[in-house]
Parts: sequence; C-alpha cells; structure tokens
Amino acid sequence: MPVLTSDAVILRTWPLREADLIVSFFARDYGRMRGVAKAALKSRKRFGGALEPMTVVRAWFAEKPRTELVRLDQLEILRSPLSSPVDAVRLAALSFYAEVLDEALPEHDPQDAVFRLVVSVLEQTAAVAAGTEVGVPLVPALGRGRPDRPHADRPRATQPQSSGPQPSGPRSSGSWMALSYFSLWMTRLMGLLPDIAHCIVCGEALHAADLNPDRNAAADAADLVAGAEVLKGHGFSRAASREGRSGALAPEGNSFPAEKTHSHDSGIFFTPHADGLFCALHRNGSANSLSADSWQLAQRMLRAPVSAFAAEPWTRRRAQDLRRFTLETLERHLEKKLRTAEALARLGG
Ligand SMILES: [Zn+2]
Repeated sequence: MPVLTSDAVILRTWPLREADLIVSFFARDYGRMRGVAKAALKSRKRFGGALEPMTVVRAWFAEKPRTELVRLDQLEILRSPLSSPVDAVRLAALSFYAEVLDEALPEHDPQDAVFRLVVSVLEQTAAVAAGTEVGVPLVPALGRGRPDRPHADRPRATQPQSSGPQPSGPRSSGSWMALSYFSLWMTRLMGLLPDIAHCIVCGEALHAADLNPDRNAAADAADLVAGAEVLKGHGFSRAASREGRSGALAPEGNSFPAEKTHSHDSGIFFTPHADGLFCALHRNGSANSLSADSWQLAQRMLRAPVSAFAAEPWTRRRAQDLRRFTLETLERHLEKKLRTAEALARLGG
C-alpha cells in the first residue's frame, strides 16, 4: 500500500467514531477524495490546524483495499486561511468555496485549473486581508488570455481602498471581489457557462443598457470611473468607447429615458431556469437584468488573473447580480441550494 502525496485543499471534516474524523479534501494530483484522519480529535499535534476548511496543505495518504476512504497519514500546512485577519464576510466566503468544491467536483478526477483557481483566490483574499498586494501571482493565470502579462503599471491595492468610500471596509470588499471571481470561474470550469457575449437563444451580440435605479448611485459612479480607467489602461479601449456610446459611462449623454429600467432592444438578462444570457427580445417574464458593469467585469475576469482586480474599488453591491447569476447556475446543476450562500445573502451578498 504505497503512500501517495499531493498538494491539497481541505474542504470539510465530520466525526467518524470516537476521535476519528472523515476529511473531504481536493488533491491537486488525484482530485476530490475522502480520507480518515485517525485520532485527529484526540491528538491535536498530529494534524494541528491543518484540518480547518480551505487550508492548503501537503498531504500524505494511502489508499486502502475495499474502501473509498484513504488513510490520511500526515498534513503539512502550506497556507492557512487563519494566518490573516478573518472577518464575517471572509469567513462566509471561505465556507462558500469549500461547499462549492465539495459539491461540484467529481471524485478522483484531478482538475488542475480549479486547483490553481482556488489557490490564487485564497492568496488574493489573504493579501487583501493583510493589507498587502500579491505582486506576482504564484500560480499561472487561468484559461486563455495572456497569463504572463506584467501588471507593474497598476496602482497599489491599498490606494483606492484608503481614499474612496468603502462602506464594507477593504477586507470584506476584497472578499466580495474574490467571491465574484471564484463563482464565475467555477461556473466556467465546470462547463456551465456558455459564451456570455451573445444571446443564448438567437446568438446576437448582447448590448448593455445600464439604467438600473436600484443600484447605489455613488458606488456606481466610482465603479464606472474606475472601470473606465482600467478598461483604457488594459487594451479594452474599444469596449470602453462602445460602452461610452451606449451611455453607461457618460450619464449626461444618455439616450434612454431615465424612468425606464430597460430599453426594449438592449439590456442583458438571466433566469434561474437556464444557462447563459438573454437579449431583451428573448428574456422571459421573470428574468433579472445583468448590469453593464457586471457584464463587462465578467468578460474581463475571464481574461485576467484575480490579482488584476485587487486595485479596483469594490463594494458589496458591485457584481451582486453577477454573483447571483453564477450562483443560480451552480445551484441548478448541483440540484440543491448551497447552505453557505444563505449565510452570504444574510451579509448582503
Ligand atoms: Zn436573443
């Protein structure tokens, strides 16, 4: 019975008998697995704090005949979520990551892109919580795009957080950003996210019309200005100028009546019942709208590492609709409500 080793993320534990724990963990080289940590409750020194959910560890374990459960021999902490300050939002976000991974990942199926996503999101939130910035991502960026593109020209993460209004504080605002990024990428990596640039029904290119009166106007203005600057600075000038023409970045030039939430021929919509996004023509009656900021953010997030978004101002409300869209997609495919999403909702997420 050879002892195997892999980097892994601890997802959850529950008691087995007396002092033993069953541990669900996500091993980079072996996928999601379950193992028994013998006497984990009796002898704290053997596993120490390594069994806290979302701890990144080096794990040694052995497969046993006639059982799905491996025998966990040793865990060495590589990154503990408790090594940087934890507030209520960050704690809820960590629980959410753990539940999504535990529910969504197939067993014994290595998903290296998901592993890199998780580690980069944890690094970023820890850096924001500690008030420092992750300058160079320790893991390569995900997906397409240009992962090695240097981000040296980006302002430091601490600047906008100390200067702008931050009703939820820099720590929790970083958590909302990371949550948005994680949820979007998990949806994508699980194969649940169709092309978001086009209507899922007719295939026409989507056009944002962002006149949602429910959103916080001051936060919106800051987000839009920051968003425009980021877009300009990172080769998205065409997208930015397109957005400018539609009026979302230049309220005074807006061609849509202010009292209307949506125009008849623009806007982007989603429903809890279907994957992908809909144009105004193919939305159904109960569809929710996705704001222009969230839609553009989603497209940028699919091209850039999570560290690229640390310098942007974040409030709880930013990308709230995008998180709802990705959460509904995940829950629909898991065929269950995520318990930790309720906790996030109670915190205003
Ligand atoms: Zn359509």
